[in-house]
Amino acid sequence: MNQQLSQPLEIFLMNDQPFTCPYCGSRCEEIASFYHTNAKSLIEKCLNKDCGFTCYEEEDEYFLKLWKQ
Ligand SMILES: [Zn+2]
Repeated sequence: MNQQLSQPLEIFLMNDQPFTCPYCGSRCEEIASFYHTNAKSLIEKCLNKDCGFTCYEEEDEYFLKLWKQ
């Protein structure tokens, strides 16, 4: 990852679909995981090299409740 994180990453909530880039619609890949920590978040990066969008993906409590039913 050579992108300079000069500003905070946007945060998106997880849902039951694979995460896709909100700008170009490409699939994103997980480049870092803090899922096992209290943060419960991943860093996702767009697979479209021309886009390179990077963001946090965070667990949604509502989504967690759905899974526990
Ligand atoms: Zn993209």
